[in-house]
Amino acid sequence: MLLGKPIQEAILEDVKKGLAELTGAGHRAPKLVAVLVGDDPASAIYVRTKVRKCEELGLESEAIILPEATSTEELLGRIDSLNADDGVDGILVQLPLPDGIDTDAVLDRIDPRKDVDGLHPENVGLLVQNRARFVPATPAGIMQMLDRSGIEIQGQNAVIIGRSEIVGKPMASLLMHRHATITVCHSRTQDLPGVCRRADILIVAIGRDAMVTKDFVKPGASVIDVGINRVGERDRVAEIFGDSADWEKFDDRGYVVVGDVHPEVAEVAGAMTPVPGGVGPLTIGMLMANTLVAARLRAGLDG
Ligand code: NAP
Repeated sequence: MLLGKPIQEAILEDVKKGLAELTGAGHRAPKLVAVLVGDDPASAIYVRTKVRKCEELGLESEAIILPEATSTEELLGRIDSLNADDGVDGILVQLPLPDGIDTDAVLDRIDPRKDVDGLHPENVGLLVQNRARFVPATPAGIMQMLDRSGIEIQGQNAVIIGRSEIVGKPMASLLMHRHATITVCHSRTQDLPGVCRRADILIVAIGRDAMVTKDFVKPGASVIDVGINRVGERDRVAEIFGDSADWEKFDDRGYVVVGDVHPEVAEVAGAMTPVPGGVGPLTIGMLMANTLVAARLRAGLDG
């Protein structure tokens, strides 16, 4: 299994060293501000986790929580103030935003030098040109996992299922820059299992519980499961996990978290990330790393 925790620890050790270097040179600790609109429980947990991890590391952080009824104009006003605030290094807006808010307008408004999620068009362009400033944290974390686990990338066939701005597209750029041969699949791809079976590295970011089964995977392939799905139907949990279902957890919470990759894939994959405990911790780690990058930019230490 490719476990996320030890890789996260290695990433955070590097962040701590960078932080000591920054503060040792007389600069203040980096500050990350997370903006959450509405009361989606999963988003609230993600924001809390990010703020807590900042505190653990000695980074400053703040969560700004706005009501569901916030308008695009109000949110843009908040972003303008954060852009102008010299005490703020990194800004992230937790997605998805409620219906009715113009997400593109909001992401476009974030100062690209404070855009720690790497979603501003300027940062997307820099990544595509292989001179990235901020790389979205999830694909950046996956690259760390592949590298730190000794998984060969150059010359390998990499198949990515999903073409989102936050995972699939930046993942394709990163792997292409490292000389893998890339195929990006989506909901209109024909013969998805057949295309996936060509992969030496299979990255799955769909948002459908246990969709990728053994017949999608070439024996020995490295499989990275990005999906986070809450499954609350007892029958579906039984179908996915059979005798190994964790009923105690299910009864306690009313759901279990399941990836996009079926657990049976572990029988054929050469290496595979678990859910939870695989990609999730890496995302947090790379967000912290991006906040340090933002602080170094503001301190004039990097171009
Ligand atoms: P998204 O924006 O919803 O994109 C899903 C992608 O999957 C789309 O490109 C879609 O194709 C494709 N797709 C949907 N159904 C498909 C099917 N039946 N066959 C083939 N492709 C299909 O999702 P996302 O934001 O990238 O997130 C994906 C998953 O990763 C979610 O479960 C999310 O919660 C999780 N996630 C986890 C982390 C983490 O830190 N671990 C971070 C981000 C996201 P079309 O483009 O054709 O619609």
